[in-house]
Amino acid sequence: MINKYIETLQKHGLKRTPKRLEVLRILSEESAYISPQKLHVLLKEKFLKIGLPTVYRILQQFQNIGIVTSIQQDDNQLYYYLCDCVEKHHHFICRKCHKVSCLTYCDFDNIKQLVADQLDSLAETHVLQIEGLCKECLES
Ligand SMILES: [Zn+2]
Ligand SMILES: [Zn+2]
Ligand SMILES: [Zn+2]
Repeated sequence: MINKYIETLQKHGLKRTPKRLEVLRILSEESAYISPQKLHVLLKEKFLKIGLPTVYRILQQFQNIGIVTSIQQDDNQLYYYLCDCVEKHHHFICRKCHKVSCLTYCDFDNIKQLVADQLDSLAETHVLQIEGLCKECLES
């Protein structure tokens, strides 16, 4: 399950250190987004002396190579989620159970065109975070 992520690490020249592998293992078992603090607590079960800055550094590295996505919540804190989608897409976040699902959709080309037409400007990036209730939470 985490083999493809390990391949991505190697492709980007990141060594398979025990800490990186443990972060991958923990994230791959979570279907909900996770805070760096919670990840830190879980990592401490195996690496007693690991510091929070190391956790942030690993998450940042994973985000840079595109296997981790960060999510901003109302408390202004960033949460993280392991995502294996290759194509451009966005995420649906359940407000109740915090599960994150990938949605194969991106309308950035249209947005770019709108910005060019209406504002004579060049759009370079965009953020779209979709929130609501997932199927399980709707049914319960
Ligand atoms: Zn839910
Ligand atoms: Zn995704
Ligand atoms: Zn998009």
